[in-house]
Amino acid sequence: MTVTDSLIDELVDKLRELPDGTEISVYKLIEMCGYDAKKLAQYGGLADVCCDLRKAARRARITLGWFRNTDTALDLPGQVPFIIRKNSAYNECPFCGSRNTARILYGMPAMDEELEAKVKAGKVCLGGCCVTMFDPKRYCNDCGKEF
Ligand SMILES: [Zn+2]
Repeated sequence: MTVTDSLIDELVDKLRELPDGTEISVYKLIEMCGYDAKKLAQYGGLADVCCDLRKAARRARITLGWFRNTDTALDLPGQVPFIIRKNSAYNECPFCGSRNTARILYGMPAMDEELEAKVKAGKVCLGGCCVTMFDPKRYCNDCGKEF
């Protein structure tokens, strides 16, 4: 089984059907659409699905709020849970709805006065230099979650 555009289309349709705020993983989503997620995982196709689904969902104006990996047992592509948010502003916290969120900056940015001011104002949050495909993009200043 290969990753096809029609599979991604079906997954995005399923995302549309599910209520706003649903917590799910790509793996569960694939099974919900009647596909064999286990088989797909064996062939290493889940990472591709995650990547393509992310882009397709964004085009459909659906935000996937990925959780940060804390459990290594979940550290497989497709197993990481996310929250479905529809038509939400990109900078809105999917957990509490707050717009008081900071952009997470990865890598080793040169700290200057401008950046320091942004960090102090809660507009930017430093995420460190380790980057994976599930790294959250924003940090909520109100509830402290990353998404
Ligand atoms: Zn929040």
